[in-house]
Amino acid sequence: MAKIAMKFGGTSVADIERIRHVATLVKKERDRGNEVAVVVSAMAGETNKLVAWTNDAATPPGSNKHPLPDQREYDVVVAAGEQITSGLLAIALGAIGVPARSWMGWQVPILTSATHGSARIEGVDGEMMNESLAKGEVAVVAGFQGVAPHDRISTLGRGGSDTSAVAIAAGLKADRCDIYTDVDGVYTTDPRIVPKARRLEKISFEEMLEMASLGSKVLQTRSVEIAMLHRVPTRVLSTFDPDRGGTLLCDEDEIVEKKPVTGIAYSRDEAKITLMKIPDRPGIAAAIFGPLADAGVNVDMIVQNVSEDGKRTDLTFTVTRGELARALAAIEKASEHIGYRELTQDANVAKVSIIGIGMRAHPGVAQTMFRTLSEKGINIQVISTSEIKVSVLIAEEYVELAVRALHSAYELDVA
Ligand code: ASP
Ligand code: MG
Repeated sequence: MAKIAMKFGGTSVADIERIRHVATLVKKERDRGNEVAVVVSAMAGETNKLVAWTNDAATPPGSNKHPLPDQREYDVVVAAGEQITSGLLAIALGAIGVPARSWMGWQVPILTSATHGSARIEGVDGEMMNESLAKGEVAVVAGFQGVAPHDRISTLGRGGSDTSAVAIAAGLKADRCDIYTDVDGVYTTDPRIVPKARRLEKISFEEMLEMASLGSKVLQTRSVEIAMLHRVPTRVLSTFDPDRGGTLLCDEDEIVEKKPVTGIAYSRDEAKITLMKIPDRPGIAAAIFGPLADAGVNVDMIVQNVSEDGKRTDLTFTVTRGELARALAAIEKASEHIGYRELTQDANVAKVSIIGIGMRAHPGVAQTMFRTLSEKGINIQVISTSEIKVSVLIAEEYVELAVRALHSAYELDVA
């Protein structure tokens, strides 16, 4: 007998008929003699609707200002979508003779930080749930939510049910975490823009972490971190065709064939800011990035030029588009202190990244990327690298062309 965590995303529970289908998949797993905990997302589109309501409610009548809603109350509202689907799935399981009980984040409890709207899971107490599983009940857990200090409901950031699922699997010491979704696994790149993308049988935790944080939307980044930390064998598979394929997230040494590049990720959610003619002196980076950090802006890529005269230089960095306005405000507020002469911004940029553990052993991987992009006439604006990835910032209009060309150049296309 094994203990399995199963997770179903929004499209898998989009209506009652699909919830009934999910119930049959859960029953099958239980009929194999396994203990089963299921984590569900809200019905597709539901969370967006709830988010929009909180924004509307926060706007004073007749005003065109859109203040952020109180984040504690935001969490109360947006966590509701998962409450509904967990109850419905428990009911649908009962209807086919499977005893089941729903669990809200606070009932498990799934303890989180106090950062409402994007809380981090700090611990999962699996004891009560394990007792319930031992009695033969299926536990249906509302994903995306937890309980913050002072017993307030919290949520984990968009896409957070993946993280709930892996954390539950780790907390229950489950043998496996199966993430059922609307695609049948992790692909070499987004199949919507590269029809020749291939499904990966296996991908290492490290690579998946890079893929997720560099723009692949299959799993929430935080869920991969937890899977990696607790070594939870995690599979991604299709709700609608569960017997086909799937991708296993695993340790690096379980992967025999290490190609230089495993996958290509892209993100359009990028904006670039350049400060021109800043004084070239110690402390200048701190003067720029300190105020940004204080404003809660995450800076991603950074390049500083060599100064020609030893006095002034230029510095470019990127942030997400959603944080651009906040970043500009913070820089302008600190402008006297920084002493730049000119500022330019560009939100029509995108980041394309190649990822692969094989890169460590293969020299010249980055060069293939640069050559391929140059052959297509695509200008590289910023480059950043780590041991297992190379990212470039390019004009947004070239994203699809770049991803397709790189996919062929690294021989990832299906035959
Ligand atoms: N329902 C939440 C969202 O749409 C969480 C999730 O689906 O993972 O972001
Ligand atoms: Mg998701």
